[in-house]
Amino acid sequence: MNLLHTPTLMLVLLLGHGLLAVEILLAERRLVAREALRRWAVAAGLLVPGLGLLGARLWLPEALCVVAGNVLVLLASLFIADAMHRFVRARPLPPRLWRALALSLPALLLLVPLTPPQRVLAMSVLLLAAPAWCVWLWWCDRARLEASLRSVALMQLLSLLVLLARIAHVLMEPGAYQDLALGNTVQGLLLLVSALSMLGAGFGFVLACSERAARLLRAQADHDDLTGALNRRAAELQLEHALARLRREGGSLAFVLVDLDHFKQVNDRHGHAVGDAVLQAFVARLKARLRASDAVARYGGEEFALLLQGADAVAALALAEQLREAVQDLRVPDGRGGQVSVTLSAGVALGEGAATPQGLYRAADAALYAAKRGGRNRVHLANECPA
Ligand code: GH3
Ligand code: MG
Ligand code: MG
Repeated sequence: MNLLHTPTLMLVLLLGHGLLAVEILLAERRLVAREALRRWAVAAGLLVPGLGLLGARLWLPEALCVVAGNVLVLLASLFIADAMHRFVRARPLPPRLWRALALSLPALLLLVPLTPPQRVLAMSVLLLAAPAWCVWLWWCDRARLEASLRSVALMQLLSLLVLLARIAHVLMEPGAYQDLALGNTVQGLLLLVSALSMLGAGFGFVLACSERAARLLRAQADHDDLTGALNRRAAELQLEHALARLRREGGSLAFVLVDLDHFKQVNDRHGHAVGDAVLQAFVARLKARLRASDAVARYGGEEFALLLQGADAVAALALAEQLREAVQDLRVPDGRGGQVSVTLSAGVALGEGAATPQGLYRAADAALYAAKRGGRNRVHLANECPA
């Protein structure tokens, strides 16, 4: 006995996918990863006629419905894979893959002469590729990806398991698939779970896109547009947390103020755009030499702060000296065939138990001032305790 009425099931599922497509298209303008979202909307849109055809096999020629319906479902799963690829790797699936797939579509006509169980088996095997690829994409980059994408991967994994279950079922009981018009409970259940998991993945994907939008907004709020360094507000927050940890757990921390020497002359001689390029190259060079636990922040025009976790006086001075040399060697094209070089002056202050962000800033600023007075292109250590 078939406990699940296939046409009703199909109607509910195709309505669900239709609504998902509409929902994505309405939300897409407000979210990031718009191209990826549009692909997913196309996939949900394709699933409507796809599932419709699979359900219509009770009234229309069965072979036509099953093959055409499954082709649409297959195409939908490819669009989903493309959406995932765009979201995770920030680029579409390679065009040659699409070309190869388009060329191989007529081969699906080979399914027509097969028996229904053979067709179900062949289509289930073909449908494995896209969800397997999506789960693999997520697995490779899971550490840096949005947490909501986990639910998408989980749903894809469920689709995969359902397909495997269907393959096992059709191999063990091919007779149950002989007359698809009759349907059976296992078949209906697998269809239900597979279409629901695709629906769940779609909603999860919308969530992941909104999580990415929130992440981007937060990054923009914490970073300087021109150089990508942290802004002062975010750096002061980090400094407060680092000082609190220092008081709790001990250890060391250095705060370094860095200022480019005679930077006004760079702008005056080469123009503001070249000055901007110098600032960008300068920060890139600093970042390349700092550890992941260190931070670089833009405190003002051409004044930057470095937060060096775990650095004592010797380590901080050595690092500041290395940075000074690295920046001295930096060459930035001036846009007229020449090159611009800059130097920096730095003031180093050390965090201790009683240090406050303001105290550290004052001490580092005084040391920086001493470095400037001392002739620039040099590093000075603050000599007072920055309480
Ligand atoms: P000193 O060695 O004493 O630090 O000299 P200086 O010329 O670097 O210092 P001053 O404070 O007189 O000049 C800083 C210059 O930095 C002036 C300003 O035009 C430039 N500046 C600040 N922000 C930016 C920016 O975002 N882009 C560019 N191109 N220049 C900037
Ligand atoms: Mg300066
Ligand atoms: Mg300055």
